[in-house]
Amino acid sequence: MIGIKRNVLLNPGPSTTTDTVKMAQVVPDICPREKEFSSLMKGLREDLVRIVHGDLEKYTSVLFCGSGTLNIDVCLNSLLPEGKKILVINNGAYSTRAVEICQYYGLPHIDLKFDVDKLPSLSLVEKTLKDNPDIALVHTTHNETGTGILNPIREIGGLAHRYGAVFTVDTTSTYAMRPIDIEKDNIDFCMASAQKGLMAMTGLSFVIGRRSIIEESKNYPKRSYYCNLFLQYDYFEKTGEMHFTPPVQTIYATIQALKEYWAEGEEAKWARHTRVFNAIHRGLDELGFRDVIKREWQAGLVVSAIYPDDPNWDFTRVHDYCYERGFTIYPGKISTTNTFRLCALGAIDESDIENFFKVFREALERENVEIPVRYEDDEK
Ligand SMILES: *Cc1c(COP(=O)(O)O)cnc(C)c1O
Repeated sequence: MIGIKRNVLLNPGPSTTTDTVKMAQVVPDICPREKEFSSLMKGLREDLVRIVHGDLEKYTSVLFCGSGTLNIDVCLNSLLPEGKKILVINNGAYSTRAVEICQYYGLPHIDLKFDVDKLPSLSLVEKTLKDNPDIALVHTTHNETGTGILNPIREIGGLAHRYGAVFTVDTTSTYAMRPIDIEKDNIDFCMASAQKGLMAMTGLSFVIGRRSIIEESKNYPKRSYYCNLFLQYDYFEKTGEMHFTPPVQTIYATIQALKEYWAEGEEAKWARHTRVFNAIHRGLDELGFRDVIKREWQAGLVVSAIYPDDPNWDFTRVHDYCYERGFTIYPGKISTTNTFRLCALGAIDESDIENFFKVFREALERENVEIPVRYEDDEK
């Protein structure tokens, strides 16, 4: 339509977008304080809640200008009452980021660490809640994007609620891909940014959660000015606008992306991501690559593969060969193992993955990497 080169992004976001979403940003200049613009944002906010099947009476969404990490910051700094503690259930890089946010704000917290390739122990979570009645907020990550492991949020949320804590979940890498039901999944707050599951552009992030808790948080300590959930919510409710300048063009792109989301449908979209994910596994299996995470624990969106033990393997060179041919692969995010990632998000399908593996195999052949790839313990 517009002749923009189509790249297949296999990195964990931003994702490949459609041309219609790209083009939706090209609009007449508008001041975002105009009524025309705030009416667009009202529909957008409601759609964001509908994606997780939230009841609009109970749940709302609050928009921010920034990348996805901003949401973690907002939830943790805004939703902790005075004298209370946060429990972070941490088995990966994004929960570690939440712990760092607690450290930067000086928020009392417990960093309950688990191995990055293991599911958290629910009995240990429960024991921690029982032993620390001052925990008012439990936080974890749905799909730990660094490895692709899926955490049992419904069970963790059930425990949080049993012990009277609010449950916040980083759903940045599942939202609008893997179906979520905010109420059934025991989530009080979840979050995402427009450039991942929604397949829109960078610059817009949002928190979706319980109105009553946001209203209660009015009296909690204010630890940030720009990143306070209640202040942003309250301004929206009173004026229909974002407190500060919104990412105007990204909002137009997101509204188009939402149209395309509803047209594709939750189930069909998840089926497409699953097709892509399975094709990634097929391709890696054929080449002999190993996964970091047990197959049945994977969230179905990120595959984290281990570097082969081949002196000719050079991730950067393989990356560059693929990149020059329109395919972007991504390094891993585990400190203990060398890995790379292939992700199933974005406006791509099975045939893109098949085309990718032709190029990827060529890259390995050119580098004289042995196929199937070798691992040191193969010979043992
Ligand atoms: C992408 C992502 C984020 C946000 O990262 P930004 O670089 O700030 O956009 C947060 N959490 C998870 C789980 C993610 O996958």
